[in-house]
Amino acid sequence: MIPLVRLIIGKEEVREVVKVLKSGQLVQGPLVQKLEKNFSKLCGTKYAIATNSGTSALHTALHVLGIGPGDEVITTPFTFVATANSVLMTGAKPIFVDIEKHTFNINPKLIERKITKKTKAILAVDLFGQSADYNEINKIAKKHGLFVVEDAAQSIGAIYSSKMTGSLADIACFSLYATKNIISGEGGMITTNNKNLDRKSRLFRSHGQDEKNRYNYLDLGYNYRMTDISAAIALEQLKRINILTKRRQEIAKIYDENLSGIKGLITPKIRISTTSVYHQYTIRITKDFGMSRDEFVKYLEKKGIQTNIYYPTPLYRFKHLAFYNNPKSFPVSERVEKEVLSIPVHPQLTDKEIYYIIDTIKNYE
Ligand SMILES: *Cc1c(COP(=O)(O)O)cnc(C)c1O
Repeated sequence: MIPLVRLIIGKEEVREVVKVLKSGQLVQGPLVQKLEKNFSKLCGTKYAIATNSGTSALHTALHVLGIGPGDEVITTPFTFVATANSVLMTGAKPIFVDIEKHTFNINPKLIERKITKKTKAILAVDLFGQSADYNEINKIAKKHGLFVVEDAAQSIGAIYSSKMTGSLADIACFSLYATKNIISGEGGMITTNNKNLDRKSRLFRSHGQDEKNRYNYLDLGYNYRMTDISAAIALEQLKRINILTKRRQEIAKIYDENLSGIKGLITPKIRISTTSVYHQYTIRITKDFGMSRDEFVKYLEKKGIQTNIYYPTPLYRFKHLAFYNNPKSFPVSERVEKEVLSIPVHPQLTDKEIYYIIDTIKNYE
């Protein structure tokens, strides 16, 4: 079976984790700080704050912007559930806006009609490794006095208009979960250029504790701290980011060239002045294809190719997220949900595997 994800844990990660274990300092040690420094350097932001997951990073980012009960946050329904759940965690409501069918990201043209007096922020997602359209999103936010939050969980290392993801909004969040492009097992990161948001995020991450006086609590806080064990893994992973990203992009290019002529199969489109880091390579199987999407999944599985559907259900269909739940307002999400199929694009794929996948797709019947 060619799996959809194959982890890359080198001997370097093992060595560095053992070092942390032997050092006796498992948390609040030097490696979390070092990881934060390297992350802010990568993203070109002044600050980076490590957390224990992408979800806790998102919760923190929304909290430090002052978002809470009674507020609304505009976001996409076509994403992992954590994006919208993080809004609920603050007591605010996620308000969904439909997506662009070619990028799978929130459609800026549809945002303004969902803005109300209660709207505080736009939470955009860089789905599958390609950033949302922040020039447009930031313009709308500026006009209406809203914050912009970037869910960059899937887009580490991607570029939009000569800027790195993580630097495209007021505050951004990454995930280092075990299947993301760069991993620490569980882990997250917040990036921002705003000193006040940095300070508040550090407080929220650790019980609201005054950094100078540990038993003085300045605000509500959680325990969202990253361990040095996780930081040790992520630091080694980050050293390889360019090689890993380049390989994903190389594989995507081979797929683009070989799969784009097939009737009813649509390859992913990348906006101009944008790069994708291909967290997923997601094709669309439309009704002009000679087989239904679900039959095609079974066919590929029989041929030893693992695929997955990201995401099978738009978030407005789940009861706890169903605000303004009229599927008719989301024609693109409704359609795309039935068409998407992610095929293996991880950097460990061999050329032989890549061409086997291509031939198998081409020769379906
Ligand atoms: C993975 C992911 C998250 C959540 O990150 P965790 O580290 O799993 O908490 C949030 N948003 C998106 C788009 C993701 O892909």
